[in-house]
Amino acid sequence: MIIDLHCHTNMSDGALTPNQLLDLASERGVDMLSITDHDTLDAYAHTSSVPPGMRLIPGIELSSRWRKQGVHIVGLNIDLSNPVMASAVAEQSAIRLQRAQEISVRLERLGFYGCLEGAQRFAHNQIGRPHFAQHLIAVGAVKNSNEAFKKYLGAGKAGDIKEHWPDIETVVQWIKQAGGIAVLAHPSKYKMTRTKLTELIGDFKNAGGEAMEVVSGLQIPSLTRDLAKLCTQFGLLASCGSDFHSPDKKWAALGLISNLPETCNPIWDRWS
Ligand code: AMP
Ligand code: MN
Ligand code: MN
Ligand code: MN
Repeated sequence: MIIDLHCHTNMSDGALTPNQLLDLASERGVDMLSITDHDTLDAYAHTSSVPPGMRLIPGIELSSRWRKQGVHIVGLNIDLSNPVMASAVAEQSAIRLQRAQEISVRLERLGFYGCLEGAQRFAHNQIGRPHFAQHLIAVGAVKNSNEAFKKYLGAGKAGDIKEHWPDIETVVQWIKQAGGIAVLAHPSKYKMTRTKLTELIGDFKNAGGEAMEVVSGLQIPSLTRDLAKLCTQFGLLASCGSDFHSPDKKWAALGLISNLPETCNPIWDRWS
């Protein structure tokens, strides 16, 4: 079974349309897929039909804040027509727009003019920092998105604005009210110390979070073992996903993820 429960389309910061993504997933033989765009469910309104034999789990990746740090929480198997989730998505989208304006003002102070309009040209739908990165590349300010994040958009840089995001309790409750399971996304990507990460997982669990990603994209086996241990220690369900954004990022290829360790309780056991 190939199971990928975290990926993006051009409804947020992914490169493919929802239908292109489903086609690629089908080519890769994905049996169970969740499209988890940033703070939007729009992909689900833009898919024509799910490929035969594939199970599509309605999902989303919601932005939150924990101790002044941005943390992502994936909601899986949510009810797409839930009114609480609909208003949550509306709130998050409004935050993204306001935040984009603020990012643009901050970049202007560094001498880059017209960044909001520039980023909007790359955003088909939900705007985010990767669209600013694309704009900065287009105007020749940086060579690639890695450099854009390193210099202007990443942690501690001018364009890193996360003050507006709701706390993890709020986000977890939205997901639960929409009938879904809250999953702590890519725990190793926050670059926290072991102590801090343990505190985050503890707070997430206390907030009602029920799962965490034990496998996120291509990762070394020792990290998988470590995350599996933390997952079991906190009594959480285990999830896995590529965090696919675009076909040219080889370390986050759609459907190419290693199996969860045997010791884990897979999240999909809840759905069968
Ligand atoms: P935002 O949703 O606006 O906060 O932007 C976060 C997104 O930017 C993530 O979901 C990644 O897709 C992307 N991202 C984060 N860090 C980097 C990086 N160092 N290089 C390239 N893309 C990144
Ligand atoms: Mn992203
Ligand atoms: Mn994320
Ligand atoms: Mn993601």
